[in-house]
Amino acid sequence: MNSFDPMIVVHGGAGNIPSNYEEQYNEGVLEAVRTGWKKLDDTNNALEAVVEAVKSMEDNPTFNAGYGSTLTIKGTVEMDALVIDGSSLRMGGVMRVSKVKNPIVLSKAILEENHHVLYAGEGAHMIAQELGFELIDPEQLITPRSRDLLEKYIKKLEEENKNKKLAGKTGTVGAVAIDSKGRLAAATSTGGIRGKKIGRVGDTPIPGAGTWADDIMAFSATGVGEWIIRSTLGLRTKTYLLSSKTTEIALMRALEDMKHLVNGTAGAIIITKEKGWAAIHTTKNMAWAKKSADGELSFLK
Ligand code: ASP
Repeated sequence: MNSFDPMIVVHGGAGNIPSNYEEQYNEGVLEAVRTGWKKLDDTNNALEAVVEAVKSMEDNPTFNAGYGSTLTIKGTVEMDALVIDGSSLRMGGVMRVSKVKNPIVLSKAILEENHHVLYAGEGAHMIAQELGFELIDPEQLITPRSRDLLEKYIKKLEEENKNKKLAGKTGTVGAVAIDSKGRLAAATSTGGIRGKKIGRVGDTPIPGAGTWADDIMAFSATGVGEWIIRSTLGLRTKTYLLSSKTTEIALMRALEDMKHLVNGTAGAIIITKEKGWAAIHTTKNMAWAKKSADGELSFLK
C-alpha cells in the first residue's frame, strides 16, 4: 500500500481582517495547525486531526466559530458545522446550534453515530444531550467584541438605510488533512455572517458547498455562504481538479467562475491525494496555516 506524506492546512476565515488583528489571527491559525498536527502525529488519522484543529479555533474568541461567533440581527448565536471523513464518506453536521460549546465535536459524534447526517436547531440540541454533551447558556458564547461589531453593523445599516451588500462580515474556521494512509478529511465551523436573519443557514454544513472530502480531495471554504452555495464551490473545484494540472489552477478556476456566476468572492483551503495543496482567496485576505514534516507556513509569511 502507498504511503502518503501527512499534512494539515487550516483557515481562520476570509474577508476583511483589520490590520491590527492580523497578528492575533496568525497566532490563532498557527496554534490550530500545531494542535491538529500533533493529533495527526499521535493518531495518524486525518479525521481526528481536523476536528482537533477546528476545536482549537472554536475556543479562540478571535475567530467566528464557537466562543466569539458572530451574531444574528437579534443579537443571538446560531452556529453551523460539518465534518466529513473522505475515505468512508461518513459525515456529521449541525445547523443553527446555540447551546453547544464545540459544534465540530458534536458533528464528529453525529458522524460516528452514523445514522442521520445533519441536525438543526432544537433537534441538534436534543441529539447533543442524547450523545452526552452538556448544554450551555448561549450567552456564554458571546464576546464583547461580537456585541460591539453587531452594534456597529446595525448603526451602519441604519445610516445606509438598506444595505444589500453581504461582503466583509465573515470569518469561519476550517481544516483539511491527509494522513499517511492517504485518508482525507475536512471540517468547517462558523457563526455565519454578522446580522444574518434568524433561521439562515450558510454554506458550511452543506456538503459540496463549503465543506467537502472524498478519496480525491478535502476542501473547506470561507466567505459569504450564499455565494458559495449558489456556485457549489466545493464540487465545482473537484470537477476542475480532475482536468487541471495543479490544485491551485483548479481552485482558481472555480473562484473565477464564482465571480462570473454570482459576482462573489471567497477563499478556500484544499489538500489533494495526487496534486498537493492550496490556500487561495479572491477576498481581500484569508488567515491560513499549513504544517507537514517539512515545516510550517502561514499567511503572514
Ligand atoms: N461561510 C460562512 C457563512 O456564510 C461565513 C464565513 O465564512 O465567514 O456562514
